[in-house]
Amino acid sequence: MARIYNFSAGPAVLPVDVLEEIQRELVDFEGSGMSLLESSHRGKEYSAVHDEAAANYKELLNLSDDYAVLFLQGGASTQFAMIPMNLLGEGQTADYTNSGAWAAKAIKEAKLVGNVNIAADCGTEIPTRVPTVDELNLTPDAAYLHITSNETISGAQWKAFPTVDAPLVADMSSDMLSRPFDANQFGLIYAGAQKNLGPAGAALVIIRKDLAERVPASTPTMFKYATHIEKDSLFNTGPCFTIYVMMLVTRWIKKVGLEKLYKQNVEKAAKLYAAIDATDFYKGTAVKECRSDMNVTFRLPTEELEAAFIKEADQNDLKGLKGHRSVGGLRASIYNAFPPEGVDTLISFMNEFEVKNG
Ligand code: PMP
Repeated sequence: MARIYNFSAGPAVLPVDVLEEIQRELVDFEGSGMSLLESSHRGKEYSAVHDEAAANYKELLNLSDDYAVLFLQGGASTQFAMIPMNLLGEGQTADYTNSGAWAAKAIKEAKLVGNVNIAADCGTEIPTRVPTVDELNLTPDAAYLHITSNETISGAQWKAFPTVDAPLVADMSSDMLSRPFDANQFGLIYAGAQKNLGPAGAALVIIRKDLAERVPASTPTMFKYATHIEKDSLFNTGPCFTIYVMMLVTRWIKKVGLEKLYKQNVEKAAKLYAAIDATDFYKGTAVKECRSDMNVTFRLPTEELEAAFIKEADQNDLKGLKGHRSVGGLRASIYNAFPPEGVDTLISFMNEFEVKNG
């Protein structure tokens, strides 16, 4: 089996163990004589998968019974709208930090719904960064504070979360379950599945249940968190297969251990940043204190060299290194399932490329 090193930002690399398990179970799921792809979302086979997925997230995040674990559709992008639709009442203000492209998208949707205060804005700064806790200009009695824990495009990450009076809401699409943290400090956490959690097709939402009661009665049923809490994410036909793979990934995280994955993530990123810093040929894009352990962004001296690097890397089975089309440059996404050997291989390639072109 020839597996390339997949540095894609998402959909992204999945653990090989998980892929093999899917393959083993694909045609005949646990002796049921059918694939899970063919099973009813209310049947006993899928029900067990669904319940285990939610239970595993609760366990991994140490969630109290005040929280619900939801699997919703429409990706993290739908959450940009659903959060203010549910949590931002008339006459209230929600605080948002602008740390880059993804935060800006969340802000744009919230502004369609209600009053937004930009509590800190470093969204267009280069080098890229996330705000510091000290610079937050918070609204008294804000409906909530929204942060983007990891900006996937710019490669800037919150290293510690702010403690605030308002419910803290976080887009953790690109660093969910990549490190241990106190989830009970949050009002709502959401993440598109297609990076650390599984394949595309679902958004994981962790919500403190009392917050779902704020929703205006006129909100359409599918857009109310209360609907999905009440029906245990089975109000309609959900993305069953995606949730099945997410469940397998939670089993894998439990088996490896979140602490161990975190340590490995920090080591992978530190090695890559050290290689970038060792020479003037490569330049990191993010402010050092905010450098993401998930998406390592860097530049070469010219765009021509960047294009050549991406092309040659690709020919050497180092795939998906092109930076987001909006910013250019290079981006190595090294999520939980990305193997440490892949980082070593990339560093060797970077050294050789510099010798040839530097
Ligand atoms: N937020 C962040 C931080 C992301 O990286 C992404 C996707 N790359 C999104 C939101 C949007 O997610 P989706 O495509 O699932 O809507």
